[in-house]
Amino acid sequence: MSSTTQPASAETAAPSAGRPAPAEPGKLTFVAPRRAKPPRHLADLAPAERRAAVAELGEKPFRAQQLSRHYFTRLVDDPAQMTDLPAAVREHLAAELLPTLLTEVRALDCDGGATRKTLWRAFDGTLIESVLMRYPDRITMCVSSQAGCGMNCPFCATGQAGLTRNLSTGEIVEQVVAGARALARGKIAGGPGRISNIVFMGMGEPLANYKAVLGAIRRITDPAPDGLGISQRSVTVSTVGLVPAIARLADEGLSVRLAVSLHAPDDELRDELVPVNTRWKVREVLDAAWAYADRTGRRVSIEYALIRDVNDQAWRADLLGRLLKGHLVHVNLIPLNPTPGSKWTASRPRDEREFVARLQAHGVPVTVRDTRGREIDGACGQLAAATD
Ligand code: SAH
Repeated sequence: MSSTTQPASAETAAPSAGRPAPAEPGKLTFVAPRRAKPPRHLADLAPAERRAAVAELGEKPFRAQQLSRHYFTRLVDDPAQMTDLPAAVREHLAAELLPTLLTEVRALDCDGGATRKTLWRAFDGTLIESVLMRYPDRITMCVSSQAGCGMNCPFCATGQAGLTRNLSTGEIVEQVVAGARALARGKIAGGPGRISNIVFMGMGEPLANYKAVLGAIRRITDPAPDGLGISQRSVTVSTVGLVPAIARLADEGLSVRLAVSLHAPDDELRDELVPVNTRWKVREVLDAAWAYADRTGRRVSIEYALIRDVNDQAWRADLLGRLLKGHLVHVNLIPLNPTPGSKWTASRPRDEREFVARLQAHGVPVTVRDTRGREIDGACGQLAAATD
């Protein structure tokens, strides 16, 4: 694609060499092509917007709530099952407001069927992934908020490929609804079930796609029939630390959990591991996290991938402990999942144990995250949507 286009007459119109022609009314000007947007979907719309959309389509506004109940509560994907709507109305509204957003390309199971990674193709061929994890006490859906990611963290598979595009609210919600459907229909090992937790820890930086992610949080947490009725407290938004967006999220009046991917307690190393740190430093990110905790009353989760001989030294554990001590915080240590060709690997068990012990010595609560989905490249940071 060419990045500039000049009218054929530009050379003659602007004799002063090298200088572009001044803009003239009526002259050809280059406009960057707009990318096509995903088709409009019920899940993109707040309840009042759904009523308006249905009315604009010439149908009775109360049909919006019927549609919502089918989509969010009954998890219907075949309009024929919407028997409380006259056939012609259901065909019309389903075509306009329930378009297919994601098509399953492949699903991979592991952990005895308790973990399922799904690769999806969007309307424009974009590929994204989601992961469903069943535990004895909860069922967690890990969703993507962007296709690819622009944050460029060198240890993360998604970061290597760069950003393709933001997902729409509907595309984020549809990942959850598809998981809920598979569970409700008993297609996941362990029998029929319901999603209890959502983590924005799939592909992408959720706070870099703020509006769509916020819409998705509303749809996921709004009570039935307007949304999926999952508790706000069971939703986690994970971020590299986009400080203004953290402040904005704190002002939304939500009680979702914030997870901050810190990975280093010092700016020198964090500049390398999480490049956006060159913009917002450790101190600023943590201050934003504490303000979020104050505002929401929610304990902030600090994500820290332990990388052998890179960020797992005892002195870094002590520094981290000093930074976090006394705050409403919990540290989630993630054994690094090496991405293909990575020069880095997970910490030695004794270094991991020492790191945990030093944080505990500072009175900081810490857990080591399990590594569900490793064999299917569905574990933390491995989502890269490879198609081969
Ligand atoms: N962009 C968001 C959410 C996506 S990743 C964020 O950075 O928080 C979810 C978590 O997985 C983040 O904490 C991320 O740093 C971590 N992660 C990424 N790659 C990883 C890897 N190879 N091994 C372990 N954790 C990884």
